[in-house]
Amino acid sequence: MGRLSTFDREVIGILREENVLQDGEAHLLESPTGVIVVACSDGDQMPDIFDHYRDLARAGEWPVRPHMLCLHGGAMLIAPDCPLYRAFHVDELLLQHIREAEGLDLKGIGTVVLYVHAPCGAAGLANLTVVNQLDMLMRAKARVKAIDMTNRVICFVHVDYGNEGNGSHRRRTYFMSAAGWAEFWNRQGHELWGRLLGFPVSAS
Ligand SMILES: [Zn+2]
Repeated sequence: MGRLSTFDREVIGILREENVLQDGEAHLLESPTGVIVVACSDGDQMPDIFDHYRDLARAGEWPVRPHMLCLHGGAMLIAPDCPLYRAFHVDELLLQHIREAEGLDLKGIGTVVLYVHAPCGAAGLANLTVVNQLDMLMRAKARVKAIDMTNRVICFVHVDYGNEGNGSHRRRTYFMSAAGWAEFWNRQGHELWGRLLGFPVSAS
């Protein structure tokens, strides 16, 4: 199991302060027909991811019905420029599976939950920071939304902070606000981390 990098920890801390990464609330998980989950396969994190989802669903009195689509890297694989597994057309495969699971003749699930997580081994293989992962998560969301404008697409970010020294192991799942990210990016994020996404560094 990898460790959360100092940089990723700092990014997550800033995005928590800015309320871009928010505590998951049951009302945000509007899922009357269950959820299609796109998450990383990571077996060390899956129990915590599932427990969090189940607790939110129960609190909102939604059915616990996770339809799991799990491959290394999770939802960032759907972004058009995610460098992982391009040769396998993994973005198209996941989008097709989502379409099928949304379809009324198959599962008829109208809520898609997109996850990325940190630290993620697949992200590490491609030298991606959590900034890259979140940027790709937002663009994955746009592609999933484009399948069917009536579906709900919710983004979650799972963080494994590791052992905290007192014997406790801290893991959290945050809701990611797309509007909050866009606002923060324009105001500050572009200056701070734009170079990671290939933007030229400002001269000012
Ligand atoms: Zn992973």
